Amino acid sequence: MPARFIRVYPPAQPTSSIAYWFPFRNDRVLVRETEQGVAPIQGHKEIQQLIPISYGHESSRMFIGTLDNIPCMTYESSIETLPEGIRELTLREAYGQVDDVVFGIIVYAYQLLYWQRTSNFCPVCGHAPEGEEGTWGKRCPNCGHVAYPHVTPAILALVHDDDGNMLLTHKRGWGKRYSCVAGFTEPGESLEECVQREVLEELGVEVTDVTYVGSQPWPFPHQLMVGFTARYMSGDIHIQEQELDDAHWFSVKSPPEMPPSLSLAHTMIQTWIERHTR
Ligand SMILES: [Zn+2]
Repeated sequence: MPARFIRVYPPAQPTSSIAYWFPFRNDRVLVRETEQGVAPIQGHKEIQQLIPISYGHESSRMFIGTLDNIPCMTYESSIETLPEGIRELTLREAYGQVDDVVFGIIVYAYQLLYWQRTSNFCPVCGHAPEGEEGTWGKRCPNCGHVAYPHVTPAILALVHDDDGNMLLTHKRGWGKRYSCVAGFTEPGESLEECVQREVLEELGVEVTDVTYVGSQPWPFPHQLMVGFTARYMSGDIHIQEQELDDAHWFSVKSPPEMPPSLSLAHTMIQTWIERHTR
């Protein structure tokens, strides 16, 4: 059976003294070297002496869930020299080096630490907020304002025609890679409306048949990417030059270089090509 991660919320406390530890230093997760590669650090609370919590950041220590009944803990460390056998990885480096469940925990821990760091003051009145039980939210005791960890929806749209050709976009700095249209959802807009607006703004064309294909948390710092296919309907391509420097149609038989494999855009384009080259 694959490993299972179950989330917990304050004021839950770990029931076992052995835990998986996910300390972060400067946005990088610390992991243990193994013969096969890397794995989460596992051990008792003495880990916090070996890899100390950043001074003044004791509240960064969080019990975030259980992995096959073993508690998962995270915190910020400012340790200067890593102990022997401990390595640090950026999120992008961690992808593919740990299994998907562990990668998901690392992404979750990263976003909760980001939230703790950036929510120390009420944005309305400046008082220090208090944790809201049963959630990671914070409530201001002075004015009652409540806030929760940020999750910002953004769309990815793979525009295609009736023959399976893909209309892909290119930005400066992407080398030879082409990708899907991407953009943040605006207030008051559905995801489908966002797809139609972003495609029209970036490419000048109208699309229809907006169809959900999948989603992915994208922790840079807190997006939720939601992927759609969208069928070209009308219009000539006019790219939005502040956003893009090229866009054109590709046949599935001669696709361009793909986005990085970590991304949902990669999976979407890959899946589209496989489905249309059978
Ligand atoms: Zn307040």
